[in-house]
Amino acid sequence: MIRKACVIGAGIGGIATALRLNKEGWKVTVFDSNSGPGGKINQINRNGFRFDTGPSLFTLPHLVEQLFELYGANTNEYFSYDKLDNITKYFYEDGTEINAWQDPSEFAMEIEDKTNEPGVNIIRYLHHARKLYQLTANTFIFQPFAISGIFKKDFLKAGLNFKKLNALKTMHQVNELYFSDPRVIQLFDRYATYNGSNPYHTPGTLSVISHLEHNIGAFFPKQGIYQIVQSLYDFSKQNGIRFSFNDTVEEIITKDNTAKGVKANSGTYDFDAVVSNSDVFHTYDKLLKNKKIPPKLLRQERSSSALIFYWGINGKHHNLDVHNILFSNNYKEEFKQLFDNKNIYEDPTVYIFISSKAVETDAPAGKENWFVMINAPADFGQQWDHLISRARQNIIEKINRMLDLDIESKTEFEEILDPRLIEEHTHTFQGALYGNSSNSRFSAFQRQPNKSSIRNLYFAGGSVHPGGGIPLCLASASITTAAVKKHHR
Ligand SMILES: Cc1cc2nc3c(=O)[nH]c(=O)nc-3n(C[C@H](O)[C@H](O)[C@H](O)COP(=O)(O)OP(=O)(O)OC[C@H]3O[C@@H](n4cnc5c(N)ncnc54)[C@H](O)[C@@H]3O)c2cc1C
Repeated sequence: MIRKACVIGAGIGGIATALRLNKEGWKVTVFDSNSGPGGKINQINRNGFRFDTGPSLFTLPHLVEQLFELYGANTNEYFSYDKLDNITKYFYEDGTEINAWQDPSEFAMEIEDKTNEPGVNIIRYLHHARKLYQLTANTFIFQPFAISGIFKKDFLKAGLNFKKLNALKTMHQVNELYFSDPRVIQLFDRYATYNGSNPYHTPGTLSVISHLEHNIGAFFPKQGIYQIVQSLYDFSKQNGIRFSFNDTVEEIITKDNTAKGVKANSGTYDFDAVVSNSDVFHTYDKLLKNKKIPPKLLRQERSSSALIFYWGINGKHHNLDVHNILFSNNYKEEFKQLFDNKNIYEDPTVYIFISSKAVETDAPAGKENWFVMINAPADFGQQWDHLISRARQNIIEKINRMLDLDIESKTEFEEILDPRLIEEHTHTFQGALYGNSSNSRFSAFQRQPNKSSIRNLYFAGGSVHPGGGIPLCLASASITTAAVKKHHR
């Protein structure tokens, strides 16, 4: 008998789970409230410009390739990408400009040339980050995380090397141990924001994130980030996965603590397994009518959100690259405002992502597509309109000051995304980009596991184990599929 599964959400984690389950012989239907796939990975096309609206940094591409390879397909026929030469271009208020070259020794030389930091410290740090990855990846990223797993080999290995994990120090403290130049410390502190956390609180173990970009590589799809979704979606349809768009799931039907199917806009359906790719808060709050949100989820701090301006820009700016950072002059205060005061600091770190530097067709000739983002707190009902107009002014002044531009006069049009809209577009609780933050050393232990306590109900995506971001969502899909397989032998 063919078993039927549904996936609630066509986010990257949802599509990847659908592909994996389909390969295991399940008949899979994916529901999404939106009119197309991708969730937070989306795009805007306007006046000849194309913008990726969500993620922009792409690491561990082999996790995408695995999905094609699972079916014996040649990834290159569907999806292709390049390695970036310059991972990110960093600008500081004192006039320093640092290119984070992909090659670690070139990057170390650049740091030595532009700052007071000996290049050898970069090499030592990246070596440490590699070790951290080797010690933690299997336990914390690629396998289900459960207390019952503490006797497994990988967990024991991590435990025996506990001191090296730097779990009792913060990321900032670890960076201070390795570096003395505040610009270099700030550069490596920034990796906390890759999962929406605060470098002054998040455990030092998360220095591992820099390993992904600097030791493995920072990549960019040849047709932009949305190509990841488009290629996987096309491939899913080719392989018989059914998608039902503009179709919101209103309820996960349960009986005797067992998921039996879903009630969607289009009708009520029976399924042998239900996978929620929706934010875990939304799933408990809106879809499981008689279940309470587990208190341990509620107790955790939300990750940061984002405020983004998409600007069609007249002119080319040769001093900028694909990824550019204009650092705040007071990073500590920026995070204090974000997480303690749920506010946007007056001198925010500004991230400018210009995909047309890599994909020429993303902007008309002689123009650039600027995605200008700052970290923002999750939505706690702040006066957003006021915060946004003040932040916009501060961002424009910072760009003009640091890049010697009059950016407003070059802006052809603007679109804005804020935490409220992120929630509205993707059912993401409070618009937090990565679910819960990792601001506590216990965060990894408190994430929602991929197998629910309700039979036949599973979770995959950025708000559950192992966490947010494209690679972790792809890892989540793999762990979830293994759980479904185990329970439906
Ligand atoms: C601005 C921004 C920048 C980011 N930058 C990066 C980056 O540079 N690199 C990186 O790796 N990651 C980044 N991320 C994070 C990354 O985008 C997410 O972690 C990842 O895309 C989440 O995927 P997901 O599988 O959890 O699903 P989501 O993208 O959250 O999608 C869930 C889908 O489920 C649907 N859904 C939910 N509930 C229902 C329901 N009841 N019925 C029907 N459909 C439902 C939603 O409509 C949505 O389409 C960024 C995110 C944002 C927003």
